[in-house]
Amino acid sequence: MVVQTMANRAIELKQDALDMLRSRIKGPVFSAGDSRYEESRTVWNGMIDKHPALVVRCLGVADVIACVNFAREHDLLLCIKGGGHNIAGLATADGAMMLDMSLMRGVWVDPQQRVARAQAGCLLGDVDRETQLHGLAAVLGFVSLTGVTGLTLGGGFGYLTRRWGYTTDNVLAMELVTADGRLVRASRTENPDLFWGLCGGGGNFGVVTGIDYKLYPVGPEIVGGVVAWPAAEASKVLAFFRDLAASAPREMALVAMMRPAPPAPWLPKEMHGKPIVAMMACHSGKLEDAEKAVAPIKSFGKPIGDILVRRPYTQLQSLLDATQPKGRRYYWKSEYLAEIKPELTDKFMTHAAKIVSPHSAMIFFQLDGALNELPNEHSAVGNRDARFVLNIAGSWEHPEADQANIAWARAAWNDIKSFSTGGTYLNFLTADDGPERTKDALRQGLQRLGAIKKTWDPHNLFRTNRNIHPA
Ligand SMILES: Cc1cc2nc3c(=O)[nH]c(=O)nc-3n(C[C@H](O)[C@H](O)[C@H](O)COP(=O)(O)OP(=O)(O)OC[C@H]3O[C@@H](n4cnc5c(N)ncnc54)[C@H](O)[C@@H]3O)c2cc1C
Repeated sequence: MVVQTMANRAIELKQDALDMLRSRIKGPVFSAGDSRYEESRTVWNGMIDKHPALVVRCLGVADVIACVNFAREHDLLLCIKGGGHNIAGLATADGAMMLDMSLMRGVWVDPQQRVARAQAGCLLGDVDRETQLHGLAAVLGFVSLTGVTGLTLGGGFGYLTRRWGYTTDNVLAMELVTADGRLVRASRTENPDLFWGLCGGGGNFGVVTGIDYKLYPVGPEIVGGVVAWPAAEASKVLAFFRDLAASAPREMALVAMMRPAPPAPWLPKEMHGKPIVAMMACHSGKLEDAEKAVAPIKSFGKPIGDILVRRPYTQLQSLLDATQPKGRRYYWKSEYLAEIKPELTDKFMTHAAKIVSPHSAMIFFQLDGALNELPNEHSAVGNRDARFVLNIAGSWEHPEADQANIAWARAAWNDIKSFSTGGTYLNFLTADDGPERTKDALRQGLQRLGAIKKTWDPHNLFRTNRNIHPA
């Protein structure tokens, strides 16, 4: 079998070496031609079309250790697939040995201590499902099919971020297999420097096998959902969004977006495909308070659709799933914002009006609150000046439309990027965002991350990520 080395050289991996690997691994080991190969090699973003030479679906920590040792001993390019949702396709690489973590999806909840331990292959929905049995939740993202590990290693934010910070601010410990094949635990008290780097520095330091999340009382019912208006109302709705975001309690997190209306049953048929402005909200506090807090949204102007209601928290967490199917083509541009100025909403509307695909959107996510109260040096995630995220989210079906959609996203970004804090979200960077954008994401933390990398992975075994190996 032809495989890629770490230095990007194609070499032959002999059959006896492969037999040795198989004898050390309990999970399935396969390559192209196997019925499971396509599912493993493909990722959420259909623009990514890479072919690893070899896939190992690890069944447990012992398999991960065996894989890391094997890759190191044979100088193999290694890639790690969590939920496969990274838009840049960092989970996969041509000619690599892929560690597919999808068989490691166990979650253990300790309701007394309010801690959940999630295995590294979990999707967000796996964790929410188990923690909600106890009326508890971890701080995770907005789409239930996203992998917890990639999200957490890059920072992570969602509806609960205003109350409790980045996902990574709420990690108690991570367990990982390091480049030398050791199983190591990292927390504020065990290997604290490594823990600092894992909390936002991407997958640079090892294969994470489990994450302990701090949990908070949330749900099982919350008030959440979406209200939509015709795009003609965007100027008023976005001004309202800005005002409401400035005064809303931290229990409430808001998202504003403009896009062509999807063919959703809660939107009138005649509006499908027409431009709309929408506001999403999640109030995770007391239900009576929540209903009062969302009332002004529901009564604002003349909505064309309103599904902002009491519902299970897990339902809200999967409300957007169908809008983000695996295999469609995606291209994003994104910035952190310290505020949303009226001039920015003007540009937001201008570029939303130029969207070229029925699936694309311009989005503001509100994040401000707990994350702004920690110092920048708290962990590698940094970006403590971020109060909103802007995402220019291109999404379309066919390769023929690549150029038009990418050009739209880039033009909008070029016109808007001056409103940025100067920081961007590591996990939203696309394949054509180079090392300078990794610097924009990691900012002040970059130097310390370089030093941690030297200690824990001096030969850069873990390189198919937003790599911070010093040159
Ligand atoms: C539809 C969609 C919605 C999203 N929503 C949010 C959101 O609400 N909030 C948010 O913060 N982000 C969000 N994201 C971004 C998301 O955080 C990143 O895409 C993240 O990389 C996804 O993690 P994953 O495990 O699914 O990805 P993968 O593509 O599997 O992996 C991403 C990176 O993490 C590394 N990695 C994965 N598992 C391991 C492991 N066990 N050990 C070491 N490294 C590992 C991979 O090698 C790769 O470098 C969203 C993305 C999508 C596509």
